[in-house]
Amino acid sequence: MLRLDDIKVTLDPNIKITPENKCGFCTNSICCTYVTQPIDTPRSKQEYEYLLWQVSHDHIEVYRDDEGWCLLITGKCTHILPGGGCGIYDARPQLCRDHTNDYCEFDSPSEEGFELYFRNYDELLKYCKKKFKHWKRG
Ligand code: SF4
Ligand code: SF4
Repeated sequence: MLRLDDIKVTLDPNIKITPENKCGFCTNSICCTYVTQPIDTPRSKQEYEYLLWQVSHDHIEVYRDDEGWCLLITGKCTHILPGGGCGIYDARPQLCRDHTNDYCEFDSPSEEGFELYFRNYDELLKYCKKKFKHWKRG
């Protein structure tokens, strides 16, 4: 998954991280660097072919977690300010307002919850060849 500049933050052990101050320490603003789009569970060869086409494109990945399959479009929001703040904070979209930082990417990477994760064509093709006995192409 795309990361911003991957600024390393050394946390003062005396500072307690709370929901109120947590985002202030998350200088990479990970939750603002991608979009997810749920998709139907692919079953047929044809559906996997379609996915192969999709993941052949820059910034398009696909994963499955306990909620199902999703496209992962990596790319940072154009409103992120240098340092990680939101440039339209008072008018930010409702989805951003609803996002909770209770247990977020600051605590552990989303990838840890992925059951399957295909970052490119080659990774998905390898899976297709295993899944379908008679996958001839590639
Ligand atoms: S919600 Fe989590 S990932 Fe997003 S900016 Fe806050 S601490 Fe970082
Ligand atoms: S609008 Fe603000 S809070 Fe929402 S994704 Fe963009 S930078 Fe993050």
